[in-house]
Amino acid sequence: MRTVDKRTTQTTIHMLLVILAVALVLVLGGCGAGSEEKAEEQDQTQVTTEATVETTTEATTQTQESAEPDAELFAAGADIEIPEYDGEASVKINGNQPMFADALKTTDSREEYGKLDKRGRCTGAFANLSVDTQPAPSEERQDISSVHPSGWRSGMGWERCHLIGWQLCGENANEKNLVTGTHYMNVDGMLPYENEVHTYIEETGNHVLYLVEPVFKGKNMVCSGVHMQAESVEDDGEGVSFNVFCFNVSPGNEIDYKTGAVTVTDEAVAEQNAFERTYVLNTNTMKFHYPSCDSVARMSDHNKETVTAKRGDLIKQGYDPCGMCEP
Ligand SMILES: [Zn+2]
Repeated sequence: MRTVDKRTTQTTIHMLLVILAVALVLVLGGCGAGSEEKAEEQDQTQVTTEATVETTTEATTQTQESAEPDAELFAAGADIEIPEYDGEASVKINGNQPMFADALKTTDSREEYGKLDKRGRCTGAFANLSVDTQPAPSEERQDISSVHPSGWRSGMGWERCHLIGWQLCGENANEKNLVTGTHYMNVDGMLPYENEVHTYIEETGNHVLYLVEPVFKGKNMVCSGVHMQAESVEDDGEGVSFNVFCFNVSPGNEIDYKTGAVTVTDEAVAEQNAFERTYVLNTNTMKFHYPSCDSVARMSDHNKETVTAKRGDLIKQGYDPCGMCEP
């Protein structure tokens, strides 16, 4: 379903022109308002225009997605009280009961990605997941390093965290589905829930309602965590049912959520250096990588060596951490 119909493209271009014209009139005609209000209005108009452009483009390539994201779907998580992190990667919300409206409980597979807000932050992603929304078995993950989610700073150990995991929806460099997150949130927080949903769909062929919303405090550019809800449809939540908050923290590190700056404490360095895990070495460039790094796939076999080692020992042997995956 990735072919683009020429006529649809033309129609889309016409629609875009109309939308742009309307946006221009709105911006130019915004008289009488105070300057701050005006700037706000202009801001929103731009965001709306961009979002509409993206949505229309997607509609031509992915017929599964409906044209207009439902704003109400992405409002539910905004009101939850952010719990304090006390050592657990995730905590239950609302007694672990998901809060999907009955009207959503259908077997129509779909995906909806909320518009970025005016600060460029993700607002949420909703899907009715099934085998139809998963990537085809032959499909490979694409490079997502072109996306710089809000709060992204390189060299700080951040990961681009999918709101809806790739294995569930096959979305690659979709800026509305990627947030700046810690390895801890990605792997210790979100992954077990993503795996649970994936396994359930594989085993039953059923549908799962799935909503993931990043929660930002005030004007922070990095989210405090993500609110994840899921409920299986055909068996009324018998198979999958959860409502949790995963913390965007990195034990031992201090995070400035306004700017994305991460201060690694000496304790954390010592801990990381003393901990054995799997790395892939490039014996030619003398870099080491996480096995998931994109450059591992491109590495020639005779330069590639997979090891289980302590990070500190690799550095002592003369290896440098890769700048992309930042192991
Ligand atoms: Zn790497």
